[in-house]
Amino acid sequence: MRYYDKLIFECSKKGRRGYSLPVRKYERTLKELTASLCRTLALGLPEVSEVDVVRHYTNLSQMNFGVDTGFYPLGSCTMKYNPKINEEIAAMPGFQALHPLQPAETVQGTLRICYELEQSLAAITGMAHFTLNPCAGAHGELTGLMIMRQYHMSRGDFKRTKVIVPDSAHGTNPASAAACGLDVVVVKSKENGLIDVEALKQLLNDEVAGIMMTNPNTLGLFESEIDAIARLVHGCGGLLYYDGANMNPLLGVVRPGDMGFDIMHLNLHKTFSTPHGGGGPGSGPVGVCERLLKHLPTPRVEKLQDGTFTVLHENEESAGQVSAFNGHFGILLRAYSYILMLGKQNLKYAGRFATLSANYIKESLKDCYKLPIPSICKHEFVFDGLIDDGSKVAGEGNGATTLDVAKRLLDFGYHAPTIYFPLLFHQSIMIEPTETESLETMDDFIEVMRKIAAEAATNPSYLKSAPHNAPIRRPDETTAARQPILKYADEASVN
Ligand SMILES: *Cc1c(COP(=O)(O)O)cnc(C)c1O
Repeated sequence: MRYYDKLIFECSKKGRRGYSLPVRKYERTLKELTASLCRTLALGLPEVSEVDVVRHYTNLSQMNFGVDTGFYPLGSCTMKYNPKINEEIAAMPGFQALHPLQPAETVQGTLRICYELEQSLAAITGMAHFTLNPCAGAHGELTGLMIMRQYHMSRGDFKRTKVIVPDSAHGTNPASAAACGLDVVVVKSKENGLIDVEALKQLLNDEVAGIMMTNPNTLGLFESEIDAIARLVHGCGGLLYYDGANMNPLLGVVRPGDMGFDIMHLNLHKTFSTPHGGGGPGSGPVGVCERLLKHLPTPRVEKLQDGTFTVLHENEESAGQVSAFNGHFGILLRAYSYILMLGKQNLKYAGRFATLSANYIKESLKDCYKLPIPSICKHEFVFDGLIDDGSKVAGEGNGATTLDVAKRLLDFGYHAPTIYFPLLFHQSIMIEPTETESLETMDDFIEVMRKIAAEAATNPSYLKSAPHNAPIRRPDETTAARQPILKYADEASVN
C-alpha cells in the first residue's frame, strides 16, 4: 500500500494506540471534571500506531514540491533558491527568543536591523523611506493605497476615489483598490503589450487618486513611456503606485523611485530570500517618496541623535496601523542577511542573470510555442499555447491545450509554469526561470518542453490524459476550488 492512498482516518483500527500512559496518574483528574465539561460524543481521532503516523506524514511530505526539490518556473512568483545560511541566521536563539513587547532599550540590535534594512531597500528602489510592517505583497498594496488615500484626504481633496489599473495587472491590484474602498478604472494595453498612453489621457481627471503599475509589466515588457505616464498622472494631481512584487530583475538596474513612482511595495518572500508558495508568512514592505513620510503606518523604528533606536507608536497623520507590531521579523532578518551577503556589487547580477535566463528559454522554444510578443523580456515571458497542438491528428478542437502541457510537465518532475495568466491571451503559459538555475537545468527543461510539443503534434490524446505517473491524475479543479472538502467526516465523528 502507498501510505498516501488513504487518509489517516481511513488507516484507523479500533483500539490501536501509538502511546501508553500510566492510567492511575490521570484517573483522578478525569473524575474531577464536571459533567458539563466532558464530551458526549466520541472524539473521532484516528486510532493508529506511531509508525503508521510517521510513515503517513513522511510520505505526504515527500509528495510536496518546492524549489529545494526541483525546477519551479512559476511566472510572476520568482521561485528562486533561498540560501540556507539565511535560514540559520533567522533561527539564531538571540533573535528567536525576542518578544515584540520588550522595551526598545533591550532590543537595540533588532531595531538597528529594521532601520538598516529600510535604508537598504530605499537605496535599492530609489524611494525615500520604507515601512516593514505589511505582512504580504497584497497587504503592502493595501497599505500603499491607504497612504495614497490619506495623502489626498490630508489635503482636503476628497473627490479622488478612482485608481487606474492596466488590463495586464496582477489580480491583487484591482482587488486591493476595491478593498481600500476605491473604484477601479481599467486602462487598455496596446497590441505590443504596453499601456496605451492616449487611452490613459482620456481617463485622467480630478477624481483620479493614482495609477497602479509594474514596470517591467506583467508581460515582462518595459513600459518605455513611463516618463510621459508619470508626468501625466502627476499633472492631474494623482500618485503613481509601483507593484514591486517582482523586483528581482530590476536589482541594480533600474529604480522605481527614479521612474517617478511615489509609493511601492516589495515582496521580500520573492526577491529577498524567504521560501514561499503554500501560504507561509510573507513580508511586503512599502516605500514612499519624501512627501509621504508622515503618512507611513505606525509603529515605526526611528534613529535618535545619539545613534540609539526607538519605536514611534503613534502619529496623527499616519495612514494607520496595518499589523500587530513591526511586521514579520524573521523574514526581515533573512532579507537583511541576503542583501548584506550579496552586497551592492553582486545584487545587480541577480537581476541581470534572471533576465538572461528568461530570454534564453524564450528564444529556445519559440519555434514550438506561440510567442505573441517577441521583444526582449524582463525576467519572465508568456507563450500563448502550442504552435502545433495536434488538432489535425485529433480532429478540430481536440488539440493539446496549455493545461495539457502543464499536466505533462509533472511527469518529468517539474512544477508547471503559471498558466492561463495573464488573461490577455487564451492559452497563456508564463515562465520565469530566475537567476539561480544553471544552464544545464534550463537545457533539460527546454528539451522536455520540446518533447512535449512533439508529442502534441503527433499524439495529443496522450497529453490530454497526463500526468501518467503522478499520485493524483486530473482532479476536478472547479469542484476542488468551489466545494473543497477540508474536513474528514464519517458517522463516528460528526461534530
Ligand atoms: C505575488 C504578487 C503579488 C501578491 O503578493 P502576495 O505576497 O502573494 O500577497 C502582487 N503583485 C504581483 C505582481 C505579484 O507577482
